[in-house]
Amino acid sequence: LGENLTKTMKKLVGMSVIDKKTIKEVVKEIQRALIQSDVNIALVLDLSKKIESRALEEEPPKGITPREYVITIIYEEMVNLLGGDAAGLDIDVKPYKILFLGLQGSGKTTTIGKLCRYLQKKGFNPAVVCTDTWRPAAYEQLRQLTEEMQVPLYGDPDNKDALDLAQKGLKEFKNRKVIIFDTAGRHKQEEDLIAEMDTLDDIIQPTESILVIDGTIGQQAGEQAKAFSQATDVGSIIITKLDGSAKGGGAMSAVAETGAPIKFVGTGERIDDFELFDPERFISRLLGMGDIQSLIEKAEDNIDEDMAEKTMKNMMSGKFTLVDMKNQFEMMNSMGPMQQVLSMIPGLGNKVSKEASKMTEDKIEGYKIIMSSMTQKEMENPKLIKQSRIKRIAMGSGVEEAEVRDLLKYYNNTKKTMKGIGKRGRFGNGSMNRM
Ligand code: GDP
Ligand code: MG
Repeated sequence: LGENLTKTMKKLVGMSVIDKKTIKEVVKEIQRALIQSDVNIALVLDLSKKIESRALEEEPPKGITPREYVITIIYEEMVNLLGGDAAGLDIDVKPYKILFLGLQGSGKTTTIGKLCRYLQKKGFNPAVVCTDTWRPAAYEQLRQLTEEMQVPLYGDPDNKDALDLAQKGLKEFKNRKVIIFDTAGRHKQEEDLIAEMDTLDDIIQPTESILVIDGTIGQQAGEQAKAFSQATDVGSIIITKLDGSAKGGGAMSAVAETGAPIKFVGTGERIDDFELFDPERFISRLLGMGDIQSLIEKAEDNIDEDMAEKTMKNMMSGKFTLVDMKNQFEMMNSMGPMQQVLSMIPGLGNKVSKEASKMTEDKIEGYKIIMSSMTQKEMENPKLIKQSRIKRIAMGSGVEEAEVRDLLKYYNNTKKTMKGIGKRGRFGNGSMNRM
């Protein structure tokens, strides 16, 4: 999914004119990318209708270009689709009963282990009840997982009555803060499975039912989610196996079907391969835009656009002077650390100047003081600054000569890095204008 969308977004970023035709084109490409990655067609149409009508109708807020606004709309609508903000678990009642649902092999038991570890780190002590009477080694699998973490487990491999197990488990752990119920995923008939979940749901009366879905199944996720939510009130979803073939499309379908938010994702077989799901971060990554939303917000709040544009242009063309570096420092102050700023620029991603990221605020302040002892001529043409000038500048700003040399070294390195990035043509498409 990511690759196509990233391409589309890059194209959009590079467009100089945004009119009806380009909006339609971009929306078409987004459609294509989403459909290719197996997202439900009805969903895609709905999403693209929203994006298109907003892009055509809404006036961009002051200070935002139409192009940026279209990007923002795409981003917002996709995030909305996934339920907006990161949700996590809000453990507010005792006992907080979590019922795990999902087909066999979806990753329920593994994920319960992961969730236990996650909760332990948050200071909760969860307990687990095994009601899976289907899989022969279900209890043993849970025992190994929980024993390691010293999580109490209730189960009885000889008892084949899931409902009885649930009842006994509830009694056993009634004083615990969090109880997690593992269930079976397979029956001879799917209806039987759903019926069992329905009864389990009645007995346990879970505070939250979590449906676990294998992320590699694509659109079928939607059907699965629907089947389960008919029997129980699916409160949230965990998508597993997003480490292999990450089919974000399946995840999106599932969420839209049930209206339940994705709360966590599994990204591997190990106990720590588990992440809180954050729609904003996920979509940003998917679109390949870095954290574009916050970039736009920050840029709006803080940047003097003309100065920024000129500085960036100079930086990229290699015409980078100490004046530009000083401007850059000003921007860093208003936007946060350089590394963060650069990582938000589309296409740049991790290719961030390591030098820049090592800069601490103190150091920047020091550099600024040194620069204030330079003449305008020196600032514009740093090559002039040789030994005698270094001595004068050091005296003037009350620092050691080594610190002035350090600044010059930093300047030269930055200049080199910037020139390198510019040469690779990453910014030849106008995406930097905004910066
Ligand atoms: P259950 O039948 O729903 O309880 O599923 P299990 O927890 O037994 O997991 C089935 C298989 O999926 C096991 O081999 C797990 O190691 C694997 N699995 C679970 N979650 C993930 C994940 O996030 N990534 C990967 N790669 N494998 C996973
Ligand atoms: Mg299991």
